[in-house]
Amino acid sequence: MSLTVSDVRLVTPEGVHDGWLTIEDGKITHVGRGQAPGNGRSLGGRTVVPGFVDIHTHGGAGASYPDGDVDKAAQAAAFHLGRGTTTTLASLVTAAPATLARTASALADLCEQGLIAGIHFEGPYISKARCGAHDPALLREPDRAEFRELVRAGRGHVRMLTIAAELPNALDVIRDAAAEGVIAALGHSDATYEQTIAGIEAGGSVATHLYNAMPPLSHRDPGPIAALLQDDRVTVELINDGVHVHPAMLRLAAHESGPGRTALVTDAMAAAGMGDGRYPLGPMTVDVEDGVARLTENGTIAGSTLTMDVAFRRTVREMGASLVEASAMASLTPARVLGLQDEIGSISVGKYADLVVLDEDLRLDGVMRRGVWVREPA
Ligand SMILES: [Zn+2]
Repeated sequence: MSLTVSDVRLVTPEGVHDGWLTIEDGKITHVGRGQAPGNGRSLGGRTVVPGFVDIHTHGGAGASYPDGDVDKAAQAAAFHLGRGTTTTLASLVTAAPATLARTASALADLCEQGLIAGIHFEGPYISKARCGAHDPALLREPDRAEFRELVRAGRGHVRMLTIAAELPNALDVIRDAAAEGVIAALGHSDATYEQTIAGIEAGGSVATHLYNAMPPLSHRDPGPIAALLQDDRVTVELINDGVHVHPAMLRLAAHESGPGRTALVTDAMAAAGMGDGRYPLGPMTVDVEDGVARLTENGTIAGSTLTMDVAFRRTVREMGASLVEASAMASLTPARVLGLQDEIGSISVGKYADLVVLDEDLRLDGVMRRGVWVREPA
């Protein structure tokens, strides 16, 4: 089945231009400039960017991946898909190893169905001093045998582990992760600059929500942030929801790491797409007020209610990035983190037709995944 989408402003890695594209069997087969030859589905000059790739999200629409309920997890993935996230990891939070293994095994089913692109263990090998919304009673020292079991439970679908590099045995587990094809993400960490460098040397290649849950930048004690930002081997995650990080610090990070090493993430939890109220996040309870999620017990920020379409728009409007830069941060760079850059992440011939349509105010107006409208443009 062939489909032509015409009269669009296409955002590609090479720039922004008016044009059209054709889609066959779910893939982009032609990207053209100017007027499309023949008839197509006109989008009246609206902007089309590649589908968003979110490598850090815990749920949405009232559902939470850490609960391990397959139907609810599918509901969370469908919610974010409707907001433009055509590829997503499912992030778990710290829990007992048996719980994590059971949840990973359940979510592996959804990976096999193609609804989620993999599983992210955020913890349990993270710092007590920087545990954020994770239950401090369940944190553990990195354990190679235990980690191997967790990876097994995910049947090849565990894609990322967030770990604090300064913990005992952490460097061994980071090396094991690399050998298993699991991305080691450094974060929820109290590491020094030097300990962070050691974590990168061992194979750490992502910074879990840079700035949040780690020591701040300091001119005499640069800490993990400077180490992560300045190393070409590391992609930094940024939560651009107007709450987690000040726009000036987002600009600072993106300027240092560049769009090729910056990935927008939501870190969304069950309340994304829902109203204020009380929600679970793994074993913890979270209160959402004015869209801001905080732990009930002590007010610590606990994930977000962000969606990728909003993060994208904020990155252009509040952070001052160009459309091409914001698109790299929302799609191509995280696709590269997952090793999927040949299949998704940009509007290019041969890649899947995963597309997001935006109106002139950059608000979401349509979503296509694998050549099928998930949300038909108005
Ligand atoms: Zn998280």
